[in-house]
This record gives sequence, C-alpha cells and structure tokens, in this order.
Amino acid sequence: MAGNGNRRAIGIDLGTTYSCVAAWQHDRIEIIPNDQGNRTTPSYVAFTAEERLIGDAAKNQVANNPINTVFDAKRLIGCKFSDATVQRDIAYWPFKVIPGAGDKPMFAVTYKGEEKQFSAEEISSMVLTKLKDIAEAYLGSTVTDVVITVPAYFNDSQRQATKDAGAIAGLNVMRIINEPTAAAIAYGLDKGATSSVAKNVLIFDLGGGTFDVTVATIDGDSIEVKATTGDTHLGGQDMDNRMVNHFVNEFKSKKGKDISGHPRSIRRLKNACERAKRILSSCLETPIEIELLFEGIDLFSSISRAKFNDLNTDLFNKCMELVEKCLCDAKVDKSSVDEVVLVGGSSRILKVQELLKEFFNGKEACKTINPDEAVAYGAAVLAAKLSGEGNEKVQNVVLSDVTPLSLGIAGVADLMHVIIPRNTPIPTRMEKTFTTEKDNQTSVVIKVYEGERSKATDNNLLGVFNLLGIPAAPRGVPKIKECIDIDANGIMSVSAELIGTGLKKKIIITNNKGRLSKEEIKRMIEDAEKYKREDKEFRKKAGMRSALENYAYDMRNNTRSATGIEAADKKEIEKAFESTMIWLESNKLAKVDAFKEKLKELKLIYNRIVAKMHQSTVHSGGPSIAEVD
Ligand code: ADP
Ligand code: MG
Repeated sequence: MAGNGNRRAIGIDLGTTYSCVAAWQHDRIEIIPNDQGNRTTPSYVAFTAEERLIGDAAKNQVANNPINTVFDAKRLIGCKFSDATVQRDIAYWPFKVIPGAGDKPMFAVTYKGEEKQFSAEEISSMVLTKLKDIAEAYLGSTVTDVVITVPAYFNDSQRQATKDAGAIAGLNVMRIINEPTAAAIAYGLDKGATSSVAKNVLIFDLGGGTFDVTVATIDGDSIEVKATTGDTHLGGQDMDNRMVNHFVNEFKSKKGKDISGHPRSIRRLKNACERAKRILSSCLETPIEIELLFEGIDLFSSISRAKFNDLNTDLFNKCMELVEKCLCDAKVDKSSVDEVVLVGGSSRILKVQELLKEFFNGKEACKTINPDEAVAYGAAVLAAKLSGEGNEKVQNVVLSDVTPLSLGIAGVADLMHVIIPRNTPIPTRMEKTFTTEKDNQTSVVIKVYEGERSKATDNNLLGVFNLLGIPAAPRGVPKIKECIDIDANGIMSVSAELIGTGLKKKIIITNNKGRLSKEEIKRMIEDAEKYKREDKEFRKKAGMRSALENYAYDMRNNTRSATGIEAADKKEIEKAFESTMIWLESNKLAKVDAFKEKLKELKLIYNRIVAKMHQSTVHSGGPSIAEVD
C-alpha cells in the first residue's frame, strides 16, 4: 500500500539507555541500523570543546568526558527538580543537573567552552533527530511522522513532554503509545494471526531504566490491554549501580582508596560492570579488570553470577511483585496466562527468567521476538497503519490501550474522587457531578490528581483551576459537571461546567506542571536547527582539515619516493609539510576557509615543483594526488 508520497512514517522506541527505530520497508517492518551498523542506538548526547555527538559516538567517549556526556534524559522528562526520585538520580550522575525556571531540571554542560543548559525535552529531541537522520538515510526519503513509545507508567506530564521533544526535533508525533502495548503488537503480528483463539499474554519489559508489566488479550488482529503497571525507576542501570557500589567498597577495603566522587573512575567502573553483567547472562563468573583505575592502582577482581544475583535480590523480587499486581488488576489468574513475552535488555538476566518460570509453574517464556527490538517494531506497525503504509495485516491491527493511573479530583476532607479509574481503555471521556460545600458559594477550586491513594494530596497533582461566577444558592444545589477527556496519546484535558442554571462555563485545564510553553518550544526548535547547522559546519571543517592533512602527507610521501626532484625542492616540500603539521596542531578550531587557504598554498608549492620536474625529465606516472575541493 502506498504511503504519503515521499514522506515516510517511522516508529521510535525512545529508551532510557538505548533507542531503536523501525519502519515499513520491503513489504515488512524493518529495524533500521544506525551509521555504525548497530540496531539500537545509545540515548546519549555529548558536548565537547568542538562538537556535539549523539548515540554511539557520544557513549564511546564517555569515560574521557563524563561531565559533559548526558544520558538518562528520559528519567527527567516531565519531572521537577525537587522530585525525590530526581534528587536520588542526581546523586549517581556524573553530569550536572540544576534547577531551572519553575523547578524544571536542566542539564548544565560546557559546550564549545561555554556554559549551556538543556532541558530533558531538548536532549531527547537530539536523540530523536539522530534516529530521524538514521531512518532518512536508510529509507531514502524525508521522515516527518512518527509514533513514539513511553513506559506505561508515564504520567500525563511525562507524555506531554515526550511529545514536545518530538516537536523540537521537527517531527509530527502521530501517537504516543505505551511500550508494552507496542511489544504486544509485535508479538500479536508474529503469533496472533496464526491463532484463532484469544490468548492472554503477559509482557515483561525490563530495560535499562524502567520496568513495565502488562497483561493483554490478543485475539486475531486485535490487541486489548487489560492492565498495566510498572516502575519508572527499576532497570539494568540499578543493577549496574549495585555492582559499582560493591566494587567501590571492595576497592576501599582492599586498597584503602575511595573512588566515589571521582567521575572518570566511576564511569570506567560502571562500563566494566555493565559488560560483566551481560557476560553473567551466559557465564557463571567473569573477571573485572581495570588498569590504573585510581591513582595508578589497578582493579583486578571478579564477580560470580551468584554474587550478582545476591546484590539484586530485592530488585528481582520487586519485579515479581509487580507481575502479581498486574495479574490481579487484570483479573487474570496466572494459570490463564498463555504466553509470557520477554522485552528489554535486562530480561536476558537468567535469574529473572528463572523467577518468572517458577512463578508461572514451570512455563517457559516466549523467546521468538527480539527483546531489544519488539517495542520499536510495534511502534512502526502503528506508524505504518496511521499513515496508510504497510500491508493488510498491518492495516488490520486494532489496539486498545488503557489509562495507567486513576484520574480524579479532590473533594471534601481531601478525599480523592476518581472520575476515570485506572486501566480504563482510551481514548475515553468520563464525567461526574459535584456540588458546593457551603451556602451561597460562588466559586469552587478544582484540583486534578492522578494516583491510587484515597487521600488526594498523596497523589500526583496535575493542575488546579477555579470555576467562578456560580449564582448564590444553598449548598448542594448548584450542579457542577466535571469531565476528564483522554485522547489516544494518553494526554488529557479537564473541564467543569455549571449545569441546570442556564449558565454554561467550560474550562479546559492546561497542565503546566513542568511543561514547556509554546514560546519555549518555538525557541527550542530554533536552537535545534542551530545545533544541527553547527554539527554540519563541524563535519565540514573536520572534512576540510583531514583533506589538508591527507594532502600534506601524500605530497611528502610522493615527493620522497619520486626520482627527478631536486634536493632543494624535496627540502622545500619537507619544510612545507612540517609547517602544515605545526599549523594544524595549533589551529584546531580554525574556520573552513582557513583550511582551504592553507590547502591552496600547499598546492601552489607542490604544483610548481611537479611542473618543474615534468619540464626537466621525461616522466611517466609521477606523483599523483587526488584533487580535493
Ligand atoms: P531501555 O529501553 O530502558 O533503554 P533496553 O531494553 O535497551 O533498555 O535494555 C538496556 C539494558 O539491558 C541495559 O541496562 C543493558 O545493560 C541491559 N542488557 C543488555 N543485554 C543484556 C544481557 N545480555 N544481560 C543482562 N542485561 C543486559
Ligand atoms: Mg525499552
């Protein structure tokens, strides 16, 4: 089926640690490899004295530049600086996060010698831009439309902020969907069509930063999410940190040195721990060896799978508790689960798989779908469906998602009045009628919350607004209809309306809890363009620089090996070579034109000498240098 002409739609799994992009191509969904050939791209952005790096290039240099290499932006998106979880994360991060306007957390980095601040939306938009570029190069067409996935447990503000990140990257976010729902689509497409009986599927997604568990029913082409739960702060990185702490303590007791507070050493240790953790998914024990870890002292140690499991017992148990909670919410008994689908890199941990198997009375998890790619795959299916690409199977996918948290308003004595219960299929619109508390009350304050606690203030406050101008009447007489509307992205609006008095007033609540204003988004889009230009300029400069360097080497090497060049000329070439090398060394930040000028100078010298040689000798196959321009 044809798409929108040259415009293509893609699906993006914007992960905390790794991201993945996929699209409909060659009559199927394809996972798109990046410029390094990798099918997932680290969600990392690095700032250096000269350039901005995104993805593998950023992650590869992290140990040398820990303070200016940003990752985990997803852990901050839509959150406030003073949130307890944010504060806890900051303690582990080597980069600086500071409070910005409205308590918004900002990454503070040094870029090209200047102090710069970026919001989580901006950093995420940079990762999205990279994925967009990867897709455009692969598909050979412009990409504008995208489906982005988020953890099921993301609240309204986090979803909105993710949408904003897409807008800053110049993308039209067609839909935000829950990661486990995307995985269910991938699984459903793989298995669903072959089975005519409805199946209960439990999707267990343990990634680098988040954990989601979902129960869905797949019936032919239709996927219905029954319940979803999880934890935005549970993933592979927590396990890496446990291991880091273990080795920090070991180093302290064995070598008497405390490396905590030394970002470069910690980062090198963390990288080694992540590698070791992956190895422990297939080996019983692995060495950890880091030369000159701290003050010239090496770390030579090892860790066993048993020790690793022991360090993380509580985290694994927490996963299992959430599995139980999700089944309970879905009202599905564990014996009625037909399939357990593993998603996320950390679902490869053997202990996790063992615990799941034990819990499901010996049932093996399904391993036919790639845990790293399922989410992007599902997002791409939806992107293809929404943009009219893909085959009949893709077009026939029907999905219904649910609200991750209950939504309601605070009433008398701070009681939470739920309007939309958790796990209600979306899009949805529900209403409840309220009244005044006092006689002749002319206004009411409406406080909107999300969460499961009965005391409203124990939940998450989404917004507050006043309904004014209520005609004087005894308490209990005015009827106020509160309505909550959730669109297909899980993003909501709230309205209040006075009924039965002829006066109709409708208020849409705009959630500004840590959200960006339209102006801010506009500025960020402009900045994103600017940084993109700078990156391009830098690549051009780097290309010109290496052209000059190559020319100098070729010139010298060709002259050295050539016969028929006078000694004095050879000397002049050697001198020109030396001075070019010195110039290159001391002009790292020169402009493109300066490199061009230098190249021209070299060409003049070289061409003059070569011309002279041609005149004085019968020459065949003399030195050749590729023309650079
Ligand atoms: P996210 O979506 O949160 O970015 P991913 O699903 O990409 O995360 O998973 C990344 C996490 O999976 C990382 O913490 C990584 O260390 C972990 N991981 C990847 N492969 C393995 C493995 N073989 N064993 C254990 N953990 C792994
Ligand atoms: Mg993930």
